[in-house]
Amino acid sequence: MSLPAEIEEFNEGIRRAVSGSPIVERKIWVTSLSHCLRKTALSIYLNTYNPSRSWEARIGTALHGWLGEVVRGAEFEIPVEHDLKDGWKLVGKVDAVKGDYLLEFKFRGFENNDSKKNSKKSKKNIDLDHAEPSKESIEQINAYMGILGKEKGYIYIFDRNGLDFRVFEVTFNERLFRRFIKRAEKVIEAVEDLERGEFPKWISTVGNKTWVCNHCPFRPICAAIDRPWEKSR
Ligand code: SF4
Repeated sequence: MSLPAEIEEFNEGIRRAVSGSPIVERKIWVTSLSHCLRKTALSIYLNTYNPSRSWEARIGTALHGWLGEVVRGAEFEIPVEHDLKDGWKLVGKVDAVKGDYLLEFKFRGFENNDSKKNSKKSKKNIDLDHAEPSKESIEQINAYMGILGKEKGYIYIFDRNGLDFRVFEVTFNERLFRRFIKRAEKVIEAVEDLERGEFPKWISTVGNKTWVCNHCPFRPICAAIDRPWEKSR
Protein backbone atom coordinates (compact mmCIF):
# COMPACT_ATOMS: atom_id res chain seq x y z
CA MET A 1 0.00 0.00 0.00
CA SER A 2 1.41 3.35 -0.89
CA LEU A 3 0.89 5.96 1.80
CA PRO A 4 0.71 9.76 1.55
CA ALA A 5 4.01 11.54 2.27
CA GLU A 6 2.64 13.02 5.52
CA ILE A 7 1.75 9.56 6.84
CA GLU A 8 5.14 8.17 5.78
CA GLU A 9 6.84 11.01 7.63
CA PHE A 10 4.73 10.31 10.72
CA ASN A 11 5.56 6.59 10.55
CA GLU A 12 9.27 7.35 10.23
CA GLY A 13 8.95 9.47 13.38
CA ILE A 14 7.47 6.50 15.26
CA ARG A 15 10.18 4.11 14.01
CA ARG A 16 12.97 6.46 14.98
CA ALA A 17 11.48 7.14 18.42
CA VAL A 18 11.19 3.38 19.04
CA SER A 19 14.79 2.81 17.92
CA GLY A 20 16.06 5.54 20.26
CA SER A 21 17.00 8.05 17.56
CA PRO A 22 14.07 10.49 17.38
CA ILE A 23 13.93 12.95 14.53
CA VAL A 24 15.70 16.18 15.37
CA GLU A 25 13.23 19.04 15.30
CA ARG A 26 14.66 21.47 12.81
CA LYS A 27 14.05 24.66 14.72
CA ILE A 28 16.32 27.03 16.59
CA TRP A 29 14.98 29.40 19.24
CA VAL A 30 16.11 33.03 18.97
CA THR A 31 16.76 33.04 22.72
CA SER A 32 19.16 30.10 22.40
CA LEU A 33 21.60 31.98 20.15
CA SER A 34 22.89 34.56 22.62
CA HIS A 35 25.24 32.40 24.68
CA CYS A 36 26.95 29.14 23.83
CA LEU A 37 26.37 27.76 20.33
CA ARG A 38 27.74 24.37 21.34
CA LYS A 39 25.10 24.15 24.06
CA THR A 40 22.42 25.13 21.53
CA ALA A 41 23.54 22.46 19.04
CA LEU A 42 23.68 19.74 21.69
CA SER A 43 20.27 20.74 23.09
CA ILE A 44 18.71 20.49 19.65
CA TYR A 45 20.42 17.21 18.84
CA LEU A 46 19.45 15.68 22.19
CA ASN A 47 16.06 17.39 22.26
CA THR A 48 16.61 19.01 25.67
CA TYR A 49 16.01 22.69 24.92
CA ASN A 50 13.15 24.21 26.86
CA PRO A 51 12.91 28.00 26.63
CA SER A 52 10.71 28.33 29.72
CA ARG A 53 12.40 25.93 32.13
CA SER A 54 14.28 28.39 34.36
CA TRP A 55 12.52 29.96 37.35
CA GLU A 56 13.23 33.41 35.90
CA ALA A 57 11.52 32.43 32.65
CA ARG A 58 8.54 31.15 34.63
CA ILE A 59 8.23 34.38 36.61
CA GLY A 60 8.59 36.28 33.34
CA THR A 61 5.80 34.23 31.73
CA ALA A 62 3.49 34.85 34.68
CA LEU A 63 4.19 38.60 34.62
CA HIS A 64 3.78 38.77 30.83
CA GLY A 65 0.40 37.05 31.27
CA TRP A 66 -0.58 39.58 33.92
CA LEU A 67 0.48 42.47 31.66
CA GLY A 68 -1.57 41.02 28.81
CA GLU A 69 -4.64 41.01 31.01
CA VAL A 70 -4.31 44.48 32.50
CA VAL A 71 -3.09 46.39 29.44
CA ARG A 72 -5.24 46.43 26.33
CA GLY A 73 -4.37 47.57 22.83
CA ALA A 74 -1.40 45.36 22.00
CA GLU A 75 -1.06 41.78 20.80
CA PHE A 76 0.83 39.62 23.23
CA GLU A 77 3.06 36.54 22.82
CA ILE A 78 3.29 36.65 19.05
CA PRO A 79 5.05 33.62 17.53
CA VAL A 80 7.62 34.39 14.81
CA GLU A 81 9.31 32.12 12.31
CA HIS A 82 12.07 32.64 9.75
CA ASP A 83 13.13 30.07 7.14
CA LEU A 84 16.76 29.04 7.25
CA LYS A 85 18.43 26.47 4.98
CA ASP A 86 17.42 22.81 4.51
CA GLY A 87 14.02 23.08 6.19
CA TRP A 88 15.41 24.63 9.39
CA LYS A 89 13.53 27.50 11.02
CA LEU A 90 14.50 30.24 13.41
CA VAL A 91 11.60 30.59 15.84
CA GLY A 92 10.65 32.74 18.78
CA LYS A 93 7.92 34.62 20.56
CA VAL A 94 7.75 38.41 20.72
CA ASP A 95 6.37 39.61 24.04
CA ALA A 96 4.03 42.11 22.36
CA VAL A 97 3.42 43.96 19.13
CA LYS A 98 1.76 47.37 19.14
CA GLY A 99 1.19 48.77 15.64
CA ASP A 100 4.58 48.84 13.93
CA TYR A 101 6.53 48.43 17.14
CA LEU A 102 7.80 45.34 18.91
CA LEU A 103 7.87 45.31 22.69
CA GLU A 104 9.97 43.11 24.95
CA PHE A 105 9.45 43.04 28.72
CA LYS A 106 12.23 42.26 31.17
CA PHE A 107 11.45 41.88 34.84
CA ARG A 108 14.49 42.44 37.02
CA GLY A 109 15.29 42.25 40.68
CA PHE A 110 17.62 45.07 41.84
CA GLU A 111 20.17 44.98 44.63
CA ASN A 112 19.54 48.54 45.89
CA ASN A 113 22.98 48.40 47.41
CA ASP A 114 25.06 51.63 47.49
CA SER A 115 28.33 49.83 48.16
CA LYS A 116 28.25 48.50 44.60
CA LYS A 117 28.14 51.99 43.04
CA ASN A 118 31.84 52.05 42.20
CA SER A 119 31.63 49.12 39.89
CA LYS A 120 30.37 50.06 36.42
CA LYS A 121 29.34 46.49 35.74
CA SER A 122 27.15 46.15 38.78
CA LYS A 123 25.70 49.69 38.56
CA LYS A 124 23.18 48.30 36.12
CA ASN A 125 21.95 45.99 38.86
CA ILE A 126 21.60 48.55 41.65
CA ASP A 127 18.31 50.16 40.73
CA LEU A 128 16.05 50.98 37.85
CA ASP A 129 17.69 54.40 37.27
CA HIS A 130 20.95 52.67 36.34
CA ALA A 131 19.39 49.78 34.46
CA GLU A 132 20.28 49.11 30.83
CA PRO A 133 19.05 46.44 28.44
CA SER A 134 21.52 43.59 28.07
CA LYS A 135 23.34 42.90 24.82
CA GLU A 136 21.32 39.68 24.60
CA SER A 137 17.97 41.51 24.89
CA ILE A 138 19.02 43.94 22.16
CA GLU A 139 20.11 41.26 19.72
CA GLN A 140 16.97 39.23 20.38
CA ILE A 141 14.54 42.10 19.77
CA ASN A 142 16.65 43.00 16.73
CA ALA A 143 16.23 39.43 15.44
CA TYR A 144 12.46 39.68 15.88
CA MET A 145 12.47 43.00 14.02
CA GLY A 146 14.47 41.40 11.18
CA ILE A 147 12.05 38.49 10.96
CA LEU A 148 8.93 40.68 11.02
CA GLY A 149 10.37 43.49 8.89
CA LYS A 150 9.97 46.16 11.60
CA GLU A 151 12.24 49.15 12.16
CA LYS A 152 11.79 49.95 15.84
CA GLY A 153 11.37 48.07 19.05
CA TYR A 154 11.17 48.98 22.73
CA ILE A 155 12.63 47.09 25.64
CA TYR A 156 10.78 47.64 28.92
CA ILE A 157 12.71 46.98 32.09
CA PHE A 158 10.46 46.50 35.10
CA ASP A 159 11.60 46.50 38.69
CA ARG A 160 10.06 43.29 40.01
CA ASN A 161 9.65 45.03 43.33
CA GLY A 162 6.81 47.48 42.64
CA LEU A 163 6.73 47.15 38.85
CA ASP A 164 8.04 50.64 38.12
CA PHE A 165 9.53 50.60 34.62
CA ARG A 166 11.75 52.32 32.06
CA VAL A 167 11.61 52.06 28.27
CA PHE A 168 14.60 51.78 25.89
CA GLU A 169 14.29 52.30 22.14
CA VAL A 170 16.10 49.92 19.77
CA THR A 171 16.48 50.68 16.05
CA PHE A 172 16.78 47.73 13.68
CA ASN A 173 20.40 46.89 12.80
CA GLU A 174 20.69 44.87 9.60
CA ARG A 175 24.32 43.86 10.23
CA LEU A 176 23.52 42.55 13.68
CA PHE A 177 20.61 40.56 12.23
CA ARG A 178 22.84 39.01 9.54
CA ARG A 179 25.40 38.05 12.20
CA PHE A 180 22.60 36.46 14.22
CA ILE A 181 21.46 34.38 11.20
CA LYS A 182 25.09 33.27 10.70
CA ARG A 183 25.08 31.97 14.27
CA ALA A 184 21.97 29.94 13.50
CA GLU A 185 23.71 28.51 10.40
CA LYS A 186 26.71 27.49 12.53
CA VAL A 187 24.34 25.63 14.84
CA ILE A 188 22.75 23.83 11.87
CA GLU A 189 26.21 22.68 10.67
CA ALA A 190 27.04 21.48 14.16
CA VAL A 191 23.81 19.49 14.51
CA GLU A 192 24.49 17.93 11.10
CA ASP A 193 27.97 16.93 12.31
CA LEU A 194 26.41 15.33 15.38
CA GLU A 195 23.95 13.46 13.19
CA ARG A 196 26.90 12.07 11.24
CA GLY A 197 28.47 10.93 14.50
CA GLU A 198 31.12 13.68 14.56
CA PHE A 199 31.51 16.01 17.52
CA PRO A 200 31.65 19.67 16.37
CA LYS A 201 34.66 20.72 18.44
CA TRP A 202 35.00 23.86 16.35
CA ILE A 203 31.65 25.36 17.35
CA SER A 204 31.99 28.39 19.57
CA THR A 205 31.66 27.97 23.30
CA VAL A 206 31.26 30.67 25.94
CA GLY A 207 34.88 31.66 26.51
CA ASN A 208 35.34 31.98 30.23
CA LYS A 209 31.78 32.83 31.18
CA THR A 210 31.58 30.14 33.81
CA TRP A 211 28.13 31.26 34.94
CA VAL A 212 26.74 29.93 31.67
CA CYS A 213 28.55 26.59 32.07
CA ASN A 214 27.47 26.34 35.72
CA HIS A 215 23.92 25.43 34.79
CA CYS A 216 24.73 23.53 31.62
CA PRO A 217 23.95 19.81 31.49
CA PHE A 218 26.74 19.28 28.94
CA ARG A 219 29.63 20.19 31.26
CA PRO A 220 30.89 16.60 31.46
CA ILE A 221 31.09 16.47 27.65
CA CYS A 222 33.02 19.74 27.41
CA ALA A 223 35.29 18.70 30.29
CA ALA A 224 36.20 15.54 28.42
CA ILE A 225 36.73 17.32 25.10
CA ASP A 226 38.43 20.66 25.55
CA ARG A 227 37.45 22.31 28.87
CA PRO A 228 39.18 20.14 31.48
CA TRP A 229 38.71 22.82 34.18
CA GLU A 230 34.97 22.07 34.12
CA LYS A 231 35.72 18.64 35.60
CA SER A 232 36.87 19.98 38.97
CA ARG A 233 34.10 22.54 39.53
S1 SF4 B 1 29.57 23.44 29.43
FE1 SF4 B 1 29.83 25.57 28.80
S2 SF4 B 1 31.01 25.45 26.89
FE2 SF4 B 1 30.15 23.39 27.25
S3 SF4 B 1 28.22 23.40 26.11
FE3 SF4 B 1 27.77 24.00 28.20
S4 SF4 B 1 27.78 26.23 28.18
FE4 SF4 B 1 28.85 25.52 26.34
